[in-house]
Amino acid sequence: MSIKELLKIVKKNNPNADFDSIRLAYDFAEEAHQGQTRLTGEPYINHSLETAKTLAKMKLGAQIIQAGLLHDVPEDTDRTLEDVEKNFGSEVAQMVAGITKLGKIKYRGMDRYIENLRKMFMAMASDVRVIFIKFADRIHNLSTLEAHPPKKRYRIALESLEIYAPIANRLGMGEMKGTLEDLSFKYVYPKEYQWTIGLMQARREVKEKYLNTALRNARKEIEQSGIKILDIHGRAKHIYSLYKKLLRYDREIDRIHDLVAIRIIVKDIADCYAVLGILHSKWPPVRGRIKDYIAQPKPNGYKSLHTTVFCEEGEKVEFQIRTQEMHDEAELGIAAHWHYEETLKTPQTEDKQLHWVKDLAKIQEQLQTRSQYLKNLEDLKIDVFQTRIFVITPKGDVIDLPEDSTPVDFAYAIHTEIGDKCTGAKVNDEMVPLDSKLKSGDMVDILVDKKRKGPNPDWLKFVKTSSAKTKIKAKTKSKITDWLKTVIPSGENK
Ligand code: MN
Repeated sequence: MSIKELLKIVKKNNPNADFDSIRLAYDFAEEAHQGQTRLTGEPYINHSLETAKTLAKMKLGAQIIQAGLLHDVPEDTDRTLEDVEKNFGSEVAQMVAGITKLGKIKYRGMDRYIENLRKMFMAMASDVRVIFIKFADRIHNLSTLEAHPPKKRYRIALESLEIYAPIANRLGMGEMKGTLEDLSFKYVYPKEYQWTIGLMQARREVKEKYLNTALRNARKEIEQSGIKILDIHGRAKHIYSLYKKLLRYDREIDRIHDLVAIRIIVKDIADCYAVLGILHSKWPPVRGRIKDYIAQPKPNGYKSLHTTVFCEEGEKVEFQIRTQEMHDEAELGIAAHWHYEETLKTPQTEDKQLHWVKDLAKIQEQLQTRSQYLKNLEDLKIDVFQTRIFVITPKGDVIDLPEDSTPVDFAYAIHTEIGDKCTGAKVNDEMVPLDSKLKSGDMVDILVDKKRKGPNPDWLKFVKTSSAKTKIKAKTKSKITDWLKTVIPSGENK
């Protein structure tokens, strides 16, 4: 990896970027890290370059790329943060400071784990770009894990799989999540990794032959009809995501149809539907496999048209059709909003994902100041790592919650006031108890009593979100000791 290669990638994704400033950051980092090597034996600057490369591939702006090049300078060289600021300005220095504050992750036991998590959320909440750099840094560290002793390898990979990947997922960064998982998979679950690779390779060789033919034919048909293809490529399913899907499908790879898929990127939505029509007129679609996620996006916002068709010799091939904007959103998530947005600290778009980060950071701040809750670390883990469900307000807004959430969690997710005053709930127009478990797609309507004084401490027995727990506890503080008496079985007090 060289600075030349890096600049080439930047140029491709961001032709108007400030190339000189990137080169200056490289020179500065190169000089600062002079003589240092990584455990792999390669010069240290290679790590800085690889980190910057990942950021450039995410189409991020020049300042983030500079910060990526400089991210280890204050911590690992005798150049200080002030030196960075003097040379590259406060924006870049601020990001480097954020990374330095996160520190080198030392993952020992549950306390450290939670502590790391807390630091990450604080950093993200103050400047989400810091987390982009941290992800990019982690990707290169994961790809050079072989140089570490096995125990350390496992620890770093496990942390990436359990902390970094779920966070990337929640930020909508599909490609980042997939890469983090794939790089970690073989160190965390080596046997399962080998098994999945074996299955996939055998199957893919067969598939790929058809795929190439299908891709050529599809391109020809679409272009003949006068539609401009911005990009068409085969995409292989991420290996870890394939593994998880296999577990859901009784480990039968023949039942998985999106092992490889063909992705077609076109100019606008009209072209998406036109392409779908062209494909269907050429090859018969498989019944029940046409998915219009443009008219009805997935609850996480994902948009695309999917169809599986019988191609030559009856082989099934999945097509995914989308615009460039949909593609960037699906692959880059929150990072897509930072394309060119150099000087903005917060993206222009009202960002749900960013709200989530800020909410969590707030909760964590409270946890830190209330040692009695600090013990209850599970609260926190639930919000981040549990599978999410998506439920709908009567107005059609989508609210995402951890699995097994109840109407009370939903009420608090909408507004503290609604939570505090909630007396009943309707799910899909039917009255349900407040402790019933919600499912994805449920339409939830909360009934409130304006005169109600506050939440019922009993709700603590069933709510799932830490935000609901924190709010209920705050309002029922005086009653909490009474409530504790009711939940701690008599005998345990003695
Ligand atoms: Mn680093």
